[in-house]
Amino acid sequence: MSSSRKNALDEVLHREANHIQTGERRVSEYFGENTFHLDKMRECLTEEAYKVVKSAIENGSHVDRVHADQIATAMKDWAISKGATHYTHWFQPLTGSTAEKHDGFFKPIGPGKAIERFEGDLLVQQEPDASSFPNGGIRNTFEARGYTAWDPSSPAFVIGKTLCIPTVFIAYTGEALDFKMPLIKALTKVETAAQEVCQYFDKNVTNVNATLGWEQEYFLIDTALYNSRPDLMMAGRAVFGHSPAKGQQLDDHYFGSIPERVTAFMRDFEYESHLLGIPVTTRHNEVAPNQFECAPMFEEVNIANDHNLLLMDVMEKTASKHNFRVLLHEKPFAGINGSGKHNNWSMGTNTGVNLLQPGKNPKSNLRFLTFFVNTIMAIHENADLLRASIASAGNDHRLGANEAPPAIISVFIGSQLTKMLDDLEKSISAGKMTPEAKTELKLSIGKIPQILLDNTDRNRTSPFAFTGNKFEFRAVGSSANCAQSMTVLNTIVADQLEKFKINVDKRITDGDKKDEAILKELQKLITSSKKIRFEGNGYGDEWVKEAEKRGLSNLKDSPRALDVYLRKEVKDLFDRHGILSPVELEARHEIELENYILKIQIEARIVGDLAKNHIMPAAIEYQNILIANAQGLIDVLGEKEGREAAKTQINFIKSISKHVNSLNDKVNDMIAERKKANGIEDAREKAYAYCDNVKGKFDEIRYHADKLEIMVDDELWPLPKLRELLFTK
Ligand code: ADP
Ligand code: MG
Repeated sequence: MSSSRKNALDEVLHREANHIQTGERRVSEYFGENTFHLDKMRECLTEEAYKVVKSAIENGSHVDRVHADQIATAMKDWAISKGATHYTHWFQPLTGSTAEKHDGFFKPIGPGKAIERFEGDLLVQQEPDASSFPNGGIRNTFEARGYTAWDPSSPAFVIGKTLCIPTVFIAYTGEALDFKMPLIKALTKVETAAQEVCQYFDKNVTNVNATLGWEQEYFLIDTALYNSRPDLMMAGRAVFGHSPAKGQQLDDHYFGSIPERVTAFMRDFEYESHLLGIPVTTRHNEVAPNQFECAPMFEEVNIANDHNLLLMDVMEKTASKHNFRVLLHEKPFAGINGSGKHNNWSMGTNTGVNLLQPGKNPKSNLRFLTFFVNTIMAIHENADLLRASIASAGNDHRLGANEAPPAIISVFIGSQLTKMLDDLEKSISAGKMTPEAKTELKLSIGKIPQILLDNTDRNRTSPFAFTGNKFEFRAVGSSANCAQSMTVLNTIVADQLEKFKINVDKRITDGDKKDEAILKELQKLITSSKKIRFEGNGYGDEWVKEAEKRGLSNLKDSPRALDVYLRKEVKDLFDRHGILSPVELEARHEIELENYILKIQIEARIVGDLAKNHIMPAAIEYQNILIANAQGLIDVLGEKEGREAAKTQINFIKSISKHVNSLNDKVNDMIAERKKANGIEDAREKAYAYCDNVKGKFDEIRYHADKLEIMVDDELWPLPKLRELLFTK
């Protein structure tokens, strides 16, 4: 038996065994089995080493060399018992995916002798050959190399035969080269700020955690069909393709039954996810055909984000075993829904309180209102920055495409809370409040029901919606690293909470009672953040006009959205909170522009190749058949009668020529623009050129290609059509 066949057979047997296992074992029995979590460490470590690592996880304290060695050895032994032969530092470079460099545990120690080795210094720090990761010029400027450093708060895990250790990626000069590092900093900031504000309500709150529950949308495409679409393979989206006769208009896919083959895939990837401690719980069909979603229980943001990145990886690996390809692109197919990654976000305390959950009495509702209103204010003040955090070439196709959140950031809170805020705004007087007024206020605050039932008017069109006990940021792209939007969201909320605390304290110093000071400050925030609230249809054209009237930005594409990072107030904000220095921010801006340029450049090349090498030859071949047929009819029937008989063919021949010529001209125009753009040195200018002049031509090119698709004989068409891609079970 060939070794590859043997491997394949082993794989099947292994999977069979797994399935039998899953059949027998409950999820609770194997959940997190492939992670080196705290309970596992308690079993393997000395009491003292366990305490050290626990404190590192919970308080971010330092792990000394001696204990790091102990932890590393225990981790290695555990990983080897799970079949691991290699280890890697797992990190999140600014390319958007995750990166790893595998090293063997095994070390030769003499002729014919070897040991398995993994010491503390290998656990704590490593130097990947990082020169090929984007750094926006940081490493050139500082002539520093990068290293990865262990993040003990996120459990190490075994995938396949490799122990993966979550790490941050930093330049030797200290600048962050990844997404995780600024996220951790932003989380520390918001958690401290929230904990301090919590003191107004409960002195027992000593710890706050920001929480994230993402919902991941994706498409599944049969591998064979995927492989015959170069655009899907290279760019992750279909750059051509006429809409199928049936799209999503019947809504029959949404919450319909999941096809058997897809269920098998889901079962498999959920099993793998559960082994890795990813708490995936929900799965269902999405709106578009072949579109699906999965969602986990929410977790602390940093862990939740690691889990999302891991899940995307597990999904892709598992899909290939089922002859599927996962499309994580934000808009793989024009004309049907794109994919997002809703980021459900809140904050929870060590006392078990969700700070965005209305409480049982006026006091807990005042706490709720405090965090609720401050979040709205943070969005109001930093809407453009939040928009920048979700900018990507893929998401540009989705945002504002009339079935996705608009590129205009607004907040939806529902009619009940809108009324509540309006009432509060009116009833709090700026001066000294009478006892009656205060009682009245308390009563009205007490009226916020613990469960907000008016979620019936849930607005699916809002980019940032309050959904009863959390905010849901829906404009995040399906392929994005949540750390980008979460770093911004948590930073701006931290900033707002700090300001709030200063102002409330000042009011108290000036003589207001605590509750009164809080209420007055909230009233001020409610008034000044009003224009960001929008309850209507975010997909409509009216909203675009209305938003403009309100002075809200509508940053339609990535290069324009990314410009926000260059604003002085944005640099100051990140710098003030120690999240990113101006240099780091500029580097990020440059990297994002480069990513954008490269993506559009690849798409542009594929558009050109497919048009010239696939579509035009097929159209001409069909035209030749028509010409032969028309000529034959003329030969047989004579000029006049033959022409009459070949009327349709002749019209088709003309029409094909028209579209082929236009297609060719437009592609040539686009290529000329691409060449011009490539000559531009400055990354920002180049991105603008790619956006406006290169990508700006895609739609008109596509128009002619898609017209040809519905004319040319199906037998001759060289690409699987959207109906084939999307409706294959
Ligand atoms: P739906 O929005 O579909 O009705 P849920 O309300 O259960 O579903 O929540 C959707 C997502 O929101 C889930 O991933 C869930 O984990 C997450 N979520 C729920 N509560 C919180 C919270 N307090 N913080 C962050 N995410 C949360
Ligand atoms: Mg949701």
